[in-house]
Amino acid sequence: MSKSTEIIKKTEQYGANNYHPLPIVISKAKGVWVWDAEGNRYLDMLSAYSALNQGHCHPKLIQTLKDQAERVTLTSRAFHNDQLAPFYEKVASLTNKEMILPMNTGAEAVETALKAARRWGYENKKIVTNKAEIIVCSNNFHGRTLAAVSLSSSEEYKRGFGPLLPGIKVIPYGDAEALKEAISEYTVAFLVEPIQGEAGILIPPNGYLQQVRDICTDNTILFIADEIQAGLGRTGKWFACDHENVEPDMYILGKALGGGILPISAVAANKDVLGVFEPGSHGSTFGGNPLACAVSVAALEILEEEALVKNAQELGDYFINELKALTHPSIKEVRGRGLFIGIELTESARPYCEQLKERGLLCKETHENVIRFAPPLIITKEELDHALEQIKDVLSA
Ligand code: PLP
Repeated sequence: MSKSTEIIKKTEQYGANNYHPLPIVISKAKGVWVWDAEGNRYLDMLSAYSALNQGHCHPKLIQTLKDQAERVTLTSRAFHNDQLAPFYEKVASLTNKEMILPMNTGAEAVETALKAARRWGYENKKIVTNKAEIIVCSNNFHGRTLAAVSLSSSEEYKRGFGPLLPGIKVIPYGDAEALKEAISEYTVAFLVEPIQGEAGILIPPNGYLQQVRDICTDNTILFIADEIQAGLGRTGKWFACDHENVEPDMYILGKALGGGILPISAVAANKDVLGVFEPGSHGSTFGGNPLACAVSVAALEILEEEALVKNAQELGDYFINELKALTHPSIKEVRGRGLFIGIELTESARPYCEQLKERGLLCKETHENVIRFAPPLIITKEELDHALEQIKDVLSA
């Protein structure tokens, strides 16, 4: 039995069965490349669902991690630490927001945004107690906690987990009229992914985010953008909302905020929104820990220093155009922004992902029939050309 087979067997023996990974055991990684337990090399075209925009084990991040780990890793928020303020400052300047609230995972940041929005509604809009409503979109993905799956329109995400959170209205994605119609006297917020990642890289119609901005402003409801997957350079702009020059009231960030090293997430908003929290109303033992904050600041600096947002835009345009030239009969559509790209097929995407894996290229199907490509943003044109060769082999007519 190979080492990989042995590891997979043990993983399946002891682990809860809540994932269906491709049969590869990654035991080493550097930049855009990973190696399995037998030493075979693969090009990572998934980046841990966009958490590795800076690439695997970036030297600056590893150095920052080591340096900070030797000084102090965790204080809890019972005390101040010297890495939190620089993190706040960095995220506030990137988002143009006055306040930041740090958490760990994306789903926790979503929870934070929901709590902030509800309390903001009760305190500012004087909404009747316990009546607050939040509008979300069909096919959304905001995480796996009970609140996050309560927002979901997917039966599989919710089956057997009820009772779920009340006060949620689901409307079609990309439909501004539906948003207008769904607003009631109880509405506090509209939570939306500016590009739906898990749903299969769905891009809303041009002008949608601007319409959303106007509707939210006109009706005094909060526009919350879940940029956990699409933000931080992935789509060729700092934030996916930037494609329409739109500023939401709240940004939810995660994934690449920790440079693929540590989980760190955040909500960014102005004082009138995040000011609703006072001591005792929200928190997290690890949220804002000095190790993650130090790594996060370095992770954001790397995006700037290495011009990764521009790289995502330029190489993304190139890559999408090359993919659009493919003529395989099972290709229904190629769509994407920057290095956030999906190939929608008329059949299951899984066998194609398995074939690509055999050719040394790692990607993962999303929503059954979409192959998602989201490589680290440090990828070069030569590396993308290598990926294209494998994709052409598997998806040639
Ligand atoms: N929101 C979006 C848009 C996501 O893509 C994800 C993860 O894929 C999440 C929230 C949840 O993040 P996490 O898995 O870190 O809880």
